[in-house]
Amino acid sequence: MLVAVSKNQNAQAILKLYNGGQRDFGENRVQEMRDKYNQLPKDIRWHLIGHLQKNKIKYIAEWVHLIHSADGPDLLIEINKQAIKYNRIIPCLLQVHIAKEETKFGLNEDELFNLVNLPELKNLQNVGIQGLMGIATNTDDEKIIASEFEYLASLFKTVKRNYFLSSDEFKHLSMGMSNDYKIAIEKGATIVRIGSLLFTKRQ
Ligand SMILES: *Cc1c(COP(=O)(O)O)cnc(C)c1O
Repeated sequence: MLVAVSKNQNAQAILKLYNGGQRDFGENRVQEMRDKYNQLPKDIRWHLIGHLQKNKIKYIAEWVHLIHSADGPDLLIEINKQAIKYNRIIPCLLQVHIAKEETKFGLNEDELFNLVNLPELKNLQNVGIQGLMGIATNTDDEKIIASEFEYLASLFKTVKRNYFLSSDEFKHLSMGMSNDYKIAIEKGATIVRIGSLLFTKRQ
């Protein structure tokens, strides 16, 4: 699946791709995504790909298609709470930190396994955990990128085998952006998130 990353793009630029048939769009800020949701056709599937704060889930809970950036139990508990209000299941991916750059976002391997091991996770019936998401190091060294995507793909397999084997839901590996999507697809991505390649710069 191709998610067109439309952050910093205006409604007109998005509609251009929409008119060509694109329906999945990704945003990294809640406020911007909400503004665009209000302006644009309602059959667009909105993906949140950036960091999500607990107190902002309520603004998108009714209609967000997939949250790629779930990275802790507290956030999942709050997503579940908001999903209940709208009587829906909110699909989520667990974001894993695979890059060399320091960032506060994303789970490391230990945190990932601690999270999927939590008994309470089963109680979050309005959260649908559908896979993993990761961002590779921003580098020209394809070996580094390939090894990071391979690592994420191996975590995906292990988590699926040990925790989600009986569920058809756990199926997505969201990895790959404009500069590294080919490597990501080789390593098993089911979703690529592409911005700059799709949108010309001056919009
Ligand atoms: C901006 C962004 C993308 C798209 O990046 P491009 O290099 O423009 O393709 C993908 N994923 C995330 C999380 C982003 O923030």
